[in-house]
Amino acid sequence: MDDLKLFAPNYTQLLELLQITSDFSNAIRMEFGTDKCAAVHVEKGKITSSEGTDNPLNFRTLSEAETYRYLGMSQNVGVDEGSVKQSVRDVFFDRLTKVLNSLLSGANKARAYNCWVMPVLTYTFGILRWTQTELDALDRKVRTVMTSHRMHHPRSSIMRLYLPRKHGGRGLLSALTMHNREVCSLRSYYLAKSGDGIHTDVISCDKELTPLSLANEQWQDPAVQSVSDREAIWKEKELHGRFYKALHEPFVDTVSSHHWLRFGDLFGETEGFVCAIQDQVIKTNNYRRYILKDGTVDICRACRRPGESLRHVISGCSALSNTEYLHRHNLVARIVHQELALKYGLLDVRLPYYKYVPEAVLENNRARLYWDRSIITDRTIPANKPDIVLMDRAQSGIFLVDIAIPHDENLENAATEKKRKYLDLAHEVSDMWGSLSTEIIPIVVSANGLIPVSLSGYLRRLGLRDGVLRAQMQKAVLLDTARIVRRFLSLSP
Ligand SMILES: [Zn+2]
Repeated sequence: MDDLKLFAPNYTQLLELLQITSDFSNAIRMEFGTDKCAAVHVEKGKITSSEGTDNPLNFRTLSEAETYRYLGMSQNVGVDEGSVKQSVRDVFFDRLTKVLNSLLSGANKARAYNCWVMPVLTYTFGILRWTQTELDALDRKVRTVMTSHRMHHPRSSIMRLYLPRKHGGRGLLSALTMHNREVCSLRSYYLAKSGDGIHTDVISCDKELTPLSLANEQWQDPAVQSVSDREAIWKEKELHGRFYKALHEPFVDTVSSHHWLRFGDLFGETEGFVCAIQDQVIKTNNYRRYILKDGTVDICRACRRPGESLRHVISGCSALSNTEYLHRHNLVARIVHQELALKYGLLDVRLPYYKYVPEAVLENNRARLYWDRSIITDRTIPANKPDIVLMDRAQSGIFLVDIAIPHDENLENAATEKKRKYLDLAHEVSDMWGSLSTEIIPIVVSANGLIPVSLSGYLRRLGLRDGVLRAQMQKAVLLDTARIVRRFLSLSP
């Protein structure tokens, strides 16, 4: 510690304290920065002039209008709350802007906000008197600044911003919550020590002296929102709550479905846009008609059919299925194909998935791998072209792999549907190629990035690294869904 404040009942005793401090400092060979020291003389709560007092160390004396920085707070007889709060706000928003202008990913911006911007404020909690309204306004301003940096859509869920990323949120700390939690815990710390020397005196003196009001027996703890409180509010929202419900269906792997928020390294802007898509607050014609109620006719600008909901845009529009949706589907299929080709030594070098172009047939002594090829069978079978066919020679096993990117609620049906669709082909192929087993492997990720519980098992059946691969496929789908929506919105409505 290098900041020291001495209190004495009169000038003579103050000099005695100074003497002790000076002797001690000399003994440990520490020098006084006398130019940084100051004295203030108070009589009956009023600052008095110290002229005429003899000051052996030549400290300057503070007048009533001056302040002195002690532990980072401008103070005189008391802390000058107004000016300290303003300078704290200035530093806080200056840092926030620096973080938002940086090249950090969205998740790292949230981390930087929590561990470099927020502490500017938290340091003052329990010392400066912040009202709930002031803190609310401060949180709101943070959101506005984030919106101006395109990191938060103004109609997106606010609760999600403040939920931890592993719960599907963006993981920001809220000033209001931090303040209330800190004040409650400081109070209970002091009150737990009542009856213990100096703490007892501090408690009995604090009649509205500090924001903790320790002597106030009528005190009521301010509300602190827990994670489950926030989740409950998110869930109850008519529009935002739909994605929450989809996330918590029994067939959804909730932990994996949040992977992109925790480890995806998306830009803040993309992350904000993906959340806005999941929250369904994008300005489609359906949104304008039913939420904004601005009289727009709800007809899809691409296929001209009624109902331009976001669900329709990201996975249901017939005008996009052979171009946009196929592109997204193929990205996922390429990821799986390349991974299988590498596993069986059919490829040596790994390419970024968006640059990888699969060969129609790859073959060696361990495996044969088909990409998007019809299988000619003796009997006519309509569904004879799975995305990927793998023949593992050593195990004499065949895998028919087919990819689907359905909407959230069709996650489970899509997998069942694939299994049904290729059942005939599986029997036929087993007979034709004399394999011991033929398995149908549906690879399904929803257009909003939801991962079904079953996916991990299917990837393991193929002998692939399921964790890494699930994350890659999810990121590819989300980036492409965002691309599809951006392109769609650029069409004239
Ligand atoms: Zn359409």
